[in-house]
Amino acid sequence: MIKNTIGGQIIITSEVVNYPGVLKTDGVRLTENMRRQAEYFGAEFRPAEVKELSLDGDRKEVVTDKGTFRGLGIILATGASPRRIGFQGEMEFRGRGMAYCATCDGEFFTGMDVFVIGGGLRPPRNPFSLQNMPEGYI
Ligand SMILES: Cc1cc2nc3c(=O)[nH]c(=O)nc-3n(C[C@H](O)[C@H](O)[C@H](O)COP(=O)(O)OP(=O)(O)OC[C@H]3O[C@@H](n4cnc5c(N)ncnc54)[C@H](O)[C@@H]3O)c2cc1C
Repeated sequence: MIKNTIGGQIIITSEVVNYPGVLKTDGVRLTENMRRQAEYFGAEFRPAEVKELSLDGDRKEVVTDKGTFRGLGIILATGASPRRIGFQGEMEFRGRGMAYCATCDGEFFTGMDVFVIGGGLRPPRNPFSLQNMPEGYI
């Protein structure tokens, strides 16, 4: 069951280079191949938003906006959504100069001046992913 588009967070990135056996791809192509591979082995994808789970008994219930489904097991993989900052151009340049994951995308900015905008202790915890870059911290 997937709400919105298949692929999750990675579909907004234009370069993925860290998957074994895949020299270089983008998020849409990578996850499209994952979908086809899963379907080849019998998986079915249903566009639906999960609203509620009922876990009593052997037959678990998944209540969605497209109906209720039952099964013996449930795997939750609801992921995450990066917190938007809201500046002009943020959505337009997502995955094309605007990154939400220092570990994933840091190397694409090697040798460039970058702004690291982050709450909490996140940027200082990622020194290795950004160590080759001149940094501007906000
Ligand atoms: C800009 C960017 C670039 C990245 N680049 C890389 C990279 O190059 N290499 C790399 O390895 N990783 C990269 N990542 C990290 C990678 O995208 C994540 O690690 C990965 O997407 C996690 O996958 P996931 O399936 O756990 O979660 P997600 O991708 O978050 O997927 C969760 C899915 O669950 C769905 N969902 C949530 N709630 C419900 C509900 N109630 N009902 C139905 N569906 C629901 C969401 O719609 C979504 O489709 C990048 C991330 C970002 C944001």
